[in-house]
Amino acid sequence: MSTGRLHDAMRALATLCLALSACARRPSPVPNSIGLSSGDTLDVLISGGTVYDGVHPDARRVDVGLRGDRVAWLGVAPPGVVVKQRIDAEGLIVAPGFIDPHTHAYEGLPRLGLERRKNIGALMQGVTTVVLGADGRGPLDVRQVLDSAAALGLGTNTYVMAGFGTVRSRVLGASSAAATPAQIDSMRALIAQAMAEGAFGVGSGLFYAPQSHASTEEVLAVVSAARPFGGVYDTHQRDESSYSIGLFASVQEAIRIGCESGLTTNIGHIKTLGVDVWGKADSVLAIMAAARARGCVVTADQYPWTASGTGLSAALLPRWAQAGGRDSMLARMADDTQRARMLEEVRENLRRRGGDSTLLLTGGGIGARPYIGKTLRDVALARDLAPDVAAVTLIQEGSDMSVASFNMIEDDIVRFMRDPFVMTSSDGSDGHPRLYGTYPRKLRHYVLERGVISMARMVEASSAQVARVYGISNRGELRPGAYADVIVFDPKTVGDEATYVEPTRLATGMHWVFVNGVSAVKDGQPTGALAGRTLRRR
Ligand SMILES: [Zn+2]
Repeated sequence: MSTGRLHDAMRALATLCLALSACARRPSPVPNSIGLSSGDTLDVLISGGTVYDGVHPDARRVDVGLRGDRVAWLGVAPPGVVVKQRIDAEGLIVAPGFIDPHTHAYEGLPRLGLERRKNIGALMQGVTTVVLGADGRGPLDVRQVLDSAAALGLGTNTYVMAGFGTVRSRVLGASSAAATPAQIDSMRALIAQAMAEGAFGVGSGLFYAPQSHASTEEVLAVVSAARPFGGVYDTHQRDESSYSIGLFASVQEAIRIGCESGLTTNIGHIKTLGVDVWGKADSVLAIMAAARARGCVVTADQYPWTASGTGLSAALLPRWAQAGGRDSMLARMADDTQRARMLEEVRENLRRRGGDSTLLLTGGGIGARPYIGKTLRDVALARDLAPDVAAVTLIQEGSDMSVASFNMIEDDIVRFMRDPFVMTSSDGSDGHPRLYGTYPRKLRHYVLERGVISMARMVEASSAQVARVYGISNRGELRPGAYADVIVFDPKTVGDEATYVEPTRLATGMHWVFVNGVSAVKDGQPTGALAGRTLRRR
C-alpha cells in the first residue's frame, strides 16, 4: 500500500475511533525514525525528557530528533549521528505543540500588526496552531487571506473555518428576516467556495445577532453546502443557558445541523452558563453520547475558567433589541415602551448569569476606560443607577464593553473535562486571562495539582485529538515524519500568570517551542520567529 493510501486508511480508522471511546486512546505502533543512521545529521536532539506523543497513553523516556521542519527520530539516537543542537530535557516534558480549535487570535488577518501575528501569548502556552474563524466569523476569501497572511508571516500555524456569520452578513446584512431560497443559494455558494479554498469546516455563532436570527432549517441548508468537502461544523451554540431554546434543545440543534450535513459536530467552549443550568453537564454529555450511538460524530472543546468572555450587549440585551444593527437598537432604546420591555429582559438576563456583581467589565473603546476592572454593580453604584439601567446606558453611550461573566461552576467544568470527547481550547479574547493562560492553567490546576485528568490525556486533548477531529494532517503527534511542532516544558513551573486584572501576563514554564522545526521559544524566551504556516484542508 502506498504511503498516501496508508495515510487515508489510518485517517478513516481515526475518524471511526472518534465515535468509539474504546479505541480513541489505543496507541498505534510507530517506527522510530525516517531512515536515521550513523553519519546522518539532526538539527536538534531533545534528550532525556519525558515524552508524551499525543497518542500513546504512557510517557516514554526517549530522545526526540528534529531535522528541517520534521520530527526525524524518536528513541535512543544511534551512535555516530551528528547533532547540531542538543537540548537537555532531563526533568522536562516533551509533547506535540498544542492546537487551539477556538481562538480569536488571527481575526482581522491579513491586516493584523506584527505583534499580533507573532502570537507570543499562545506560543508561551505551548500552542503552535490556532484556528481562524471561530463563532462563525471566518473569512469570505479564504485563499486570499491565507496567501497574504503567509506572505506577511505568522508565529503560529493557522487553519480556517468558513463562517456562517460572515456569509449571512454578506447576503442579508444585520436583518432579522428569514433568508429567501435565493439568499440561501448565495450563502451556500460562498460556503462551498471557502471550503474549496481550504477551510476545515464551517463555524457558526448562533448565540450572536444577526446569526441568531437564522432558523435551524436555514443554518442546515447553508452549512450542508460543505458536505462534499467534509470537515467540522463548529458552533458557539444558540443557547448555553436558558436564554432562548434552552441548553438541551440547543445541543440537539447543533448535532442535527452537523450530522445532517455529513460533518463532525463540535460544540465550541462547552459549558453550563448560569444558575438555571448548573449541574447539567452530565445531561449534556448524555445527549452527545446518544447522538454518537446513532452514528453522528460529536465532540466539544472547553476552556478551564469559571468566567466566560463576551460583550455586554451580547450578554444582556435581548436579540430583538439588536435586530437591524446599532442604529435600530438605539431607536428602540429611545422608545419608552420598548425600553421598558428591554430593561425587563436585561434584569432577567442578569439573574440568569448570577447578578450584577458577576459581570466584570474588561475592555472596550476609549469611552470604556474608566470602567475597566469594575463590576456592573460598581458602575451602577457609582452612577447611582439601577444595574439594568446602568448596563443599557453603557451600551447606549457607545461603550459596548467586553465583559468577563462569572457564570460557571467548577463541578460542571470538571465533568466536561473528564469526558474523552472534550478537547482543550482557549477562546482567547482580549481582556480575559484565557488568552494568555488557558493551557498552563489546565496543566497546573487540573492535571498536576488536582489530577482531574492525566498528563497523557491533557496532551492528547490538546494536540492529537484536535488534529484528528479537524483533519489536520501530520500535526498534533510526535512521530517521525510529522511536522516538528514540539514543546518542552517544566512540570514544576508551568502555570498561568494572567489574571482578570492583568490578562496579558505571559505563562511560565515553557522552555522550548518549535514551530515547523524553528525555535519560537528558546530557553523560556520568545524569539519572535514567524515560523507558522497557513494550513489547507485536503
Ligand atoms: Zn464563542
